[in-house]
Amino acid sequence: MRFSIWDKGDEESRALSARFREQAARYGLESDDEKPDIVVSIGGDGTMLQAFHRFRHLAQSVSFVGVHTGRLGFYADWRKDELDDLVRMIAEAQPKIVQYPLVQAEYESGGERLVQLALNEFTLKSAEGTLVAELRINGEPFEMFRGDGLVISTPSGSTAYNKSVGGAVIHPSLEAIQIAEIASINNRVYRTLGSSIVLPKHHYCDVKTEKPVDLWMDHLLLKLHDVQSIRFHVAKEKISFARYRPFPFWNRVRESFII
Ligand code: NAD
Repeated sequence: MRFSIWDKGDEESRALSARFREQAARYGLESDDEKPDIVVSIGGDGTMLQAFHRFRHLAQSVSFVGVHTGRLGFYADWRKDELDDLVRMIAEAQPKIVQYPLVQAEYESGGERLVQLALNEFTLKSAEGTLVAELRINGEPFEMFRGDGLVISTPSGSTAYNKSVGGAVIHPSLEAIQIAEIASINNRVYRTLGSSIVLPKHHYCDVKTEKPVDLWMDHLLLKLHDVQSIRFHVAKEKISFARYRPFPFWNRVRESFII
């Protein structure tokens, strides 16, 4: 079993990484940052997003597990005082592999077709003022959006930025993407649906713009100057999480937002 650790970079996470390595050596686990079987993220949800982008090229073969140093995360279920148990489980137990959908963005830039993946969401904003964008669903005109931006999220990302802008929380077993508006301008001249929409995996949405846009891919910013249209849909690839014990989604939602 080859593992790689991605930590938040603060003193506490670094100390936990060192502890993990020490324990892993006792069980004969091999450290491999190029082709790991399992990636252990130590920090919070933001750390898991970084780990995903570091290893997304291995999405088909690698699985992720998260340790949180703060409060319980959506992607990190192991507490820091359980680190030794986690190492033992990785060495000795057979995890359940749980797969969550990802969202894909495709566009042409500099004569090249580019494909990007996000774990939480893509957020589209204008690089200069209000975003003006035409939305087409499955090739058909849908609406003309004017406002601050659009959040195109995965089900597991639905509890993040999407929720802050009034989108619904979606269970990650549903293969779908959600498109939520950020402060749309709605009056007698400009009209959008106003509520978020959920697309199944065989549908796609093209967002056409005439001006430079900022495309946020989770925490990463892509500045697009020459892109006329971006196609969003459920990705073929999924992210795999190694579960050594249950981590029910609705418990996470309740513990994060209600109790
Ligand atoms: P950050 O440090 O600003 O943290 C954002 C917060 O979002 C953290 O509390 C994190 O735990 C939480 N979070 C991340 N993924 C989550 C998920 N799937 N469900 C519930 N909560 C989640 O930024 P970061 O750590 O680099 O994370 C980037 C994420 O921040 C983006 O993917 C986006 O979802 C989120 N974000 C949210 C808002 C907002 O809610 N207004 C604005 C910008 C970005």
